[in-house]
Amino acid sequence: MNPNISRLKTKHFLFLDRDGVINVHRPNDYVKALDEFVFLPRALEALVKLSKHFSRIVIVTNQRGVSKGKMHESAVQEVHAYLQKQVEDAGGKIDGIYYCIHLDDNHPNRKPNSGMAFEAKKHFPEIDFSQSMMVGDSRSDIEFGNRLGMTTVLIKKEKPGWQKPVPDFIFSSLAAIAELWEDNANYIGEDALANK
Ligand SMILES: [Mg+2]
Repeated sequence: MNPNISRLKTKHFLFLDRDGVINVHRPNDYVKALDEFVFLPRALEALVKLSKHFSRIVIVTNQRGVSKGKMHESAVQEVHAYLQKQVEDAGGKIDGIYYCIHLDDNHPNRKPNSGMAFEAKKHFPEIDFSQSMMVGDSRSDIEFGNRLGMTTVLIKKEKPGWQKPVPDFIFSSLAAIAELWEDNANYIGEDALANK
């Protein structure tokens, strides 16, 4: 295994974006109700596997559709309760889910701003950002992780169409990341592009 990639396995804390990482992203729309929440292929299984390797797993998600009046905050909470229970029932865990409903890009909790990471650290003081991995599918996720000194992983099928911020790694899916811990993992090919 590429030694750069194997350093991901030394991280203790996992920060995850939600839409496009765990569940299917709805372009130009939001997950407005439980029936619009659909797990990405093998994402649930990946969360269960990752639960064995990370001492804390938290989700940090921007959900400004609430402030736009597209959905109720209670729907977001219902989705999160469902997600957490699905993972638990499958044998894994999500320690915390943090969401930001604010429209204003300058709100301290709206990614790429760091507020939600500090909320997580308030609940789990052992979290060390330098020992954390941030996984997301957008620029703001990578920027969020970079600002906090985390190792960043972009979920994308191809090279991103932007120059900056630069993710440390690119994987095709959360399931592909979870395979890192499998003995026969082989990441020479396209599935993990080491950027640094
Ligand atoms: Mg996303």
